[in-house]
Amino acid sequence: MKEEAIWKKYNELKIGEYPFFKKEDIDVKEQGLWRYWRYLPVDKKDKISMGEGFTPLLPIRFGNNQVYIKQEQLFPTGSYKDRGAAVLMSVVANQGIRFVVQDSSGNAGCAIAAYAAKAGIECEIFVPADTSEAKLAQIRMYGARLTKVEGSREDTANAALKAADSQYYASHCYNPLFLEGTKTFAYEVFEQLDWASPTDVVLPAGNGTLLLGAFIGFKHLKNSGLIKDMPRLHAVQSAACCPLYEAWVKGDEVVVATTGTYTLAEGIAIADPVRGSEMLQAVRETNGEVVKVSEEEIGAALLKCCKMGYYIEPTSAATIAGLLKLIERGNNKQKKWVSLFSGHGLKSTTKMMSFLDDAH
Ligand SMILES: *Cc1c(COP(=O)(O)O)cnc(C)c1O
Repeated sequence: MKEEAIWKKYNELKIGEYPFFKKEDIDVKEQGLWRYWRYLPVDKKDKISMGEGFTPLLPIRFGNNQVYIKQEQLFPTGSYKDRGAAVLMSVVANQGIRFVVQDSSGNAGCAIAAYAAKAGIECEIFVPADTSEAKLAQIRMYGARLTKVEGSREDTANAALKAADSQYYASHCYNPLFLEGTKTFAYEVFEQLDWASPTDVVLPAGNGTLLLGAFIGFKHLKNSGLIKDMPRLHAVQSAACCPLYEAWVKGDEVVVATTGTYTLAEGIAIADPVRGSEMLQAVRETNGEVVKVSEEEIGAALLKCCKMGYYIEPTSAATIAGLLKLIERGNNKQKKWVSLFSGHGLKSTTKMMSFLDDAH
């Protein structure tokens, strides 16, 4: 099987067993997520870093409910993908690899291109021909080779997989080293909540790179005896493209590919997620839920956040719409909600303009 073969190939780069998480072992002299380098697959002296991570966790009020929103739009490239890219590209650089390929419809491509530039590694990013201009410009400005692929997102992935036969595949969905970076989200939340776990975490679900990273991170904290229960991990999808949601409501264990339609939340419109069954498992094992949100709900959440001063990518608004949907069900007395702004609004100027045109 294609998927298994790829897993094997990348698991060869040993991720290793980490020691139990201990508060005393956090290296507070290191910037950002590198304070947790003892639990990362690369030594701090070998890091490729632009100071990413340790984003603020802000208490924000929505109606009667106070929730904590992690400001993941504040990363160097404008999305939380830098967590995965920084760690993955650090290992890659340390292995002496000089060229990587990657495919993405946007932010993951920007992040890999940025950290490749920082490390002096060449990269080729495959994108669907209709990727938004701002992200294409960003990828090219970092000096990456950009290859546009006509057809679907899957055609792009196949083109990258073919190139990956002979080059290192720095994929955010396949390569497990990416999740080693995104797991730091959980460590930071735990530390920022004063060494406590949230009860509920609401995360975007396209390929699930943050969902799975958070699962790994909280699990590490639990195995280390620092939190008693795993927080419930909830996954949000756009109703316009929601294969995970469909498998979830049917009680299935595998995610079947769908065909998506246009959505404001382009960043989570993944019709055939690579790690679909792992995502389902993370939600089920923690007693979370998969929710889907409509275009109206995404638009309303986007306006709500922007009017509070938070200029976020429309994709990020989908997660907030899901958070609001879950909160509205009430019964929040004992709950401590955590969610995030996943990407920066400045990436989506064209989309914002047409959103404004449609709304007024
Ligand atoms: C990548 C991304 C997501 C979704 O992440 P997945 O790993 O595909 O689940 C959400 N928001 C933004 C801004 C992103 O860049």
